[in-house]
Amino acid sequence: MNLILLYDDDFVSGNSVRLMGRRLSHILEVHRPAVGDELTVGRLGGLIGKGRITQVTSMAVEMEVALSEAPPAPLAATLVLALPRPKVIKRVLLSVASLGVKRLFLVNGFRVEKSYWQSPVLKPAGIRDALILGLEQARDTILPEVLLRPLFKPFVEDELPALIQGTLALVAHPGAGDRCPHAVTPPMTLVVGPEGGFIPFELEKLVAAGCRPVEIGTRILRVETAIPFILGRLCP
Ligand code: SAH
Repeated sequence: MNLILLYDDDFVSGNSVRLMGRRLSHILEVHRPAVGDELTVGRLGGLIGKGRITQVTSMAVEMEVALSEAPPAPLAATLVLALPRPKVIKRVLLSVASLGVKRLFLVNGFRVEKSYWQSPVLKPAGIRDALILGLEQARDTILPEVLLRPLFKPFVEDELPALIQGTLALVAHPGAGDRCPHAVTPPMTLVVGPEGGFIPFELEKLVAAGCRPVEIGTRILRVETAIPFILGRLCP
């Protein structure tokens, strides 16, 4: 937690907050706080700044906050990802939020197990919890939008063409032939396949919608490794 994220109901008056629960435990364990110490804080959806501790007990910590800086610039990339296993989804949501991606579509695919769509991780609270961890990691305050698209064909045929308009649209696909470009002009749309990869029909549909297949070399990476690797390459 490199930034303590504050919510509206933490504010007990204009600029003082009172925290309990997970954030209190973190502050007590990691910061060993004393009155007068300053911690980096940010208001969800708003500015970042400092919180000066005014009172601390094992029950609650109170801070006076001064928020004046903008959160880090977002990444000008939309990510379209075939839904991975629940365990991987959590990690991906966290890293997507840390990387500054502000829009993520989770889509179906032939090699996506149907049961993955029932995972509690995909409930709004599950998604939000994972994203919050990513924001706290990266000192960001702006939650990414996560959109679920459990039907592949209507998404790719009806929604994707408009979505990628005016962006560099790439689909990462091992063996695509073309190497993934480097340091491109934003904005961009990146499509990443399921753990078993896209089937030929899906790749054809993505290409017909306007995405260019690219590869990142002969090593086949896990989804959670491929995403930061490719985004880092596209927007260094
Ligand atoms: N078994 C699949 C690999 C899937 S890896 C296959 O052989 O095709 C999961 C996803 O990560 C892929 O669909 C792709 O989007 C991305 N990916 C992983 N390694 C890649 C590489 N070397 N080049 C391009 N994309 C890659």
